[in-house]
Amino acid sequence: MIFQTVTVAGDPQLLQKKIDAVRLAGPSKLQVIADFDGTLTKYFVNGRRGQSSHGILKQGNAEYDDKRQALYEYYHPLEFSPTIPIQEKTKLMEDWWGKTHNLLIEGGLTYDAIKESVSSSAIAFRDGVVELFEFLEERNIPVLIFSAGLADIIEEVLRQKVHRSFKNVKIVSNRMVFDNNGRLISFKGKLIHSLNKNEHALEMAAPVHEHFGDVDGPINDNASVKERTNVLLLGDHLGDLGMSDGLDYETRISAGFLNDNIENNVVNYSKAFDVVYLNDAPMWGVVKLVSQMCSTVN
Ligand SMILES: [Mg+2]
Repeated sequence: MIFQTVTVAGDPQLLQKKIDAVRLAGPSKLQVIADFDGTLTKYFVNGRRGQSSHGILKQGNAEYDDKRQALYEYYHPLEFSPTIPIQEKTKLMEDWWGKTHNLLIEGGLTYDAIKESVSSSAIAFRDGVVELFEFLEERNIPVLIFSAGLADIIEEVLRQKVHRSFKNVKIVSNRMVFDNNGRLISFKGKLIHSLNKNEHALEMAAPVHEHFGDVDGPINDNASVKERTNVLLLGDHLGDLGMSDGLDYETRISAGFLNDNIENNVVNYSKAFDVVYLNDAPMWGVVKLVSQMCSTVN
């Protein structure tokens, strides 16, 4: 089967009802929660699988890059094993992330190595992401990016590939601490891995900084974010739907990117998400969706 259309709405009437509800409540009630890899970024770049925020990192020490790769090869299949009970799998993910973070510290990762890794990476935002963020920024609508990757890398990707920061965009991810020489010495806060990222909600959100070394502070409008009871959720996995779990939302519109293995997943995705974008689509569908959600015309 070849999918001619790139957008599938499981229940178009329900979607329209939700859009109307969000529009009536107004932009001050709206927030956006987005996954990073494969959602804001392209799944394929120049015909090849794009890299993840974790995958691009070269720490300037081949021995340690190899050690992290070996961990990946061991743990990655376990992450997707259908037979390992969730509790056991959660423990395995904690082990994997913990070991990886320790190798980054032990191997002497520097901030310069992050910059270099990002500039030589095959990581790219979907077309329309900048326009989406700008549209939301103009209306003071916050965007929370949830990721089990590394906040510092995601911020560097934003800096290098977008060339600007957005005051409304916050990253909830693993955050590094560097010493005065730009060497990684520790990680801040609780470990966020692929199976617990949804438990970490607003209290972990920190602003995107223009420059390395800026004072890191908690988001100061947690309360107002909690009062934004309408959510646009963007994800590329069914598990991403859990990103809004920490929020007592009134209306949630979920948009899913189905990038690969489309025939096997399109039914499940279109049942789970309000709207599904197929074939590694650009962000224009979501730009149109938010403009409908924020339209003042009846
Ligand atoms: Mg993803």
